[in-house]
Amino acid sequence: MSFAALTRLQQGLAALQADHLERHRRLLDGAQGAHVTIDGQRVVSFCSNDYLGLAADPALVSAAHAALEQCGVGAGAAHLITGHHRLHHEFEAAFARFVGKPAALLFSTGYMANLGVLTSLAGRRGEVFGDKLNHASLVDAAQLSGASFTRYRHNDLAQLEGQLAASTAQDRLIVSDLVFSMDGDIAPVDALLDLAEGFDAWLYLDDAHGFGVLNGGRGGLTERARASERVIYLATLGKAAGVAGAAVAAHASVIDWLVQKARPYIYTTASPPLLAACLLESLRQIEAGDARRERLHSRIVQLRAGLESLKVGTLMPSSTPIQPLVVGANAEAVQLSQALLERGLLVPAIRTPTVPKDTARLRITLSAAHSADDVTRLVEALHAID
Ligand SMILES: *Cc1c(COP(=O)(O)O)cnc(C)c1O
Repeated sequence: MSFAALTRLQQGLAALQADHLERHRRLLDGAQGAHVTIDGQRVVSFCSNDYLGLAADPALVSAAHAALEQCGVGAGAAHLITGHHRLHHEFEAAFARFVGKPAALLFSTGYMANLGVLTSLAGRRGEVFGDKLNHASLVDAAQLSGASFTRYRHNDLAQLEGQLAASTAQDRLIVSDLVFSMDGDIAPVDALLDLAEGFDAWLYLDDAHGFGVLNGGRGGLTERARASERVIYLATLGKAAGVAGAAVAAHASVIDWLVQKARPYIYTTASPPLLAACLLESLRQIEAGDARRERLHSRIVQLRAGLESLKVGTLMPSSTPIQPLVVGANAEAVQLSQALLERGLLVPAIRTPTVPKDTARLRITLSAAHSADDVTRLVEALHAID
């Protein structure tokens, strides 16, 4: 008996391979860091989001050990049953205080937080307005919310204004990455807030890449956005914070509403409390992390200066740890990434459909854990290939 669906799937895989779009999982041994063992090879990694080098930090590891002794491994139940541990609760309060919002809610991942927020705040009578370069999880969340979903060109506020003016929806929700994950640029927060105020909309900002890094670690919110009841802030905690999870910070009524309505919060087992203990320690490290942020900043300046005259690709204008080197075609990006790997430097090629067609790139990410030598090696290797 032939199995047509399986055959189609195998043809689909073959087509991805032919188009250089097939994705592979590299095998990591040991801890995350600037130097890692991947597929058995020791390399300098320029692709983690561990911007402050906290993922394997001894203080976080100790916090994990201590919590492990006290609360074991599993949370055992969902937050609304018996899984909501005092450590989760303490982290939420500490996080809200740190980012300057009245209340916060801890989700297991950023993907789930985005699903939870968008599906709870925008229903069938709502409209979601999203930047075209928003992270995939925000796109999925908007689509699953059942709201109408309108996308505007990257940071094109005039287009967004026209769309808001034309909207007849009951609830409007403007959604944007705060630091764009594939470009590294920063959204115009106050201008977005002006539009949210002008058209009585919520503004949801996903700061997966700014939290821990920008403004003394507090992330990319401006003072106005911090103070605004309309602004809902998301930090993911598996990137600069070095652990896992995501926290939404907002007006207390928004948080109360999410606890009642956000299905990815309600219908899932709480994350292990020991992770919340790690997050509390991570928050302390972030608060006291100016030296780490200064180191990170020096590496960014060093890389940008070093790659100014490169011909093989162009660095996008970015002041954040995300430094994309745009190459163009998928195959070229893959070849360049391969040539770097042969020199012991791990920089992934990002291809369509993750980024628009013909903008395939090397997504270089920097960390406070990189030494100046690490960056020099990358700069020299790119010039040697150029
Ligand atoms: C990584 C990322 C997410 C997803 O967060 P996870 O905690 O990894 O699920 C959401 N939004 C943006 C912009 C991201 O970069």
